[in-house]
Amino acid sequence: MIGRRGLCGKFMEEELLRLQKEASNDLAALKDPKELEIFRVRYLGRKSEFTGLMRKLGQVAPEDRPRLGKLANDIKEDLDNQFNIRKQELEEAALTGKGSKVSLDLSLPGRAYPFGKLHPVTQIMEEICTIFEGMGFGVAEGPDVETDFYNFEALNIPKHHPARDMHDTFYINESLLLRTHTSPMQARIMENREPPLRMIAPGKVYRCDSDITHTPMFHQVEGFLVDRKVSFADLRGILGVFIARMFDDRTAMRARPSFFPFTEPSAEIDIACVICRGKGCRVCKQTGWLEILGAGMIDPEVFRQVGYDPEEFSGFAFGLGVERIAMLKYGINDIRLYYENDLRFLSQF
Ligand SMILES: [Zn+2]
Repeated sequence: MIGRRGLCGKFMEEELLRLQKEASNDLAALKDPKELEIFRVRYLGRKSEFTGLMRKLGQVAPEDRPRLGKLANDIKEDLDNQFNIRKQELEEAALTGKGSKVSLDLSLPGRAYPFGKLHPVTQIMEEICTIFEGMGFGVAEGPDVETDFYNFEALNIPKHHPARDMHDTFYINESLLLRTHTSPMQARIMENREPPLRMIAPGKVYRCDSDITHTPMFHQVEGFLVDRKVSFADLRGILGVFIARMFDDRTAMRARPSFFPFTEPSAEIDIACVICRGKGCRVCKQTGWLEILGAGMIDPEVFRQVGYDPEEFSGFAFGLGVERIAMLKYGINDIRLYYENDLRFLSQF
């Protein structure tokens, strides 16, 4: 429609009004805020039909230019206004869920919130306590700061006894120390109570030692049973049940002779390697066996210290390392991982 005097003013006016109507209808039909940008590019962008028409204003007859220029500006302003109003409406609708058919998608997975968990060592310690409680054992806890008497002397480890060297003790002063085992609870409980007794004492113990199998603080569970006519067979029976429940009932156990000042006879208890089932592997150093605890019949001297008659009573005691059990159960080869507090490690349990 280019006449002799340039672009026809009438045609330009019709095109502008047509575009205004079309854009207005399209805008009202939008359902999703995401469609707004498509609309904006199509009708208001630099490459839109509307911008194209504005550029052609220079080609219309000079007498029509002011009127058409004003009309184009008014339409642009009107469309900008309509656009902003519609944008606000759609965004509000998206927030409140109104005016949209897909406002609430029930099939989407929920948001997961992180749960706190018990530390793996705490979990194993609780599991150990639960197993022994199931066999009638009571649970008692004692002080971490212990006297030299309960930690050593009451357990038949007098001053200058060579067994003291194995304990790498943290002394606070001459008579106070951080307990090196949970065994002091044996003496503490026995001096206040009469047999029969079945007790376990879980807790933290301290030794000046640190490598891949030792940390300066670790956890032990001490257990003991005192009654008339208790034998080593009772000890084996109780520990057999514990091992079957802690690992599984196919787990073989054996006792090797050992020495502890407060038990006689003493034994190290091994279980068949949980990794290779006794065939031999790196974890069990090809022996097929793993040491899990120390045990024995309570030495008559310990009974005398707390005023029990060793002719009348007998009993057994055992002490197990909680981290050691946890390492075997979870197949962990470095004890220090438990105390680095790396959440990627801890959250696996
Ligand atoms: Zn093995």
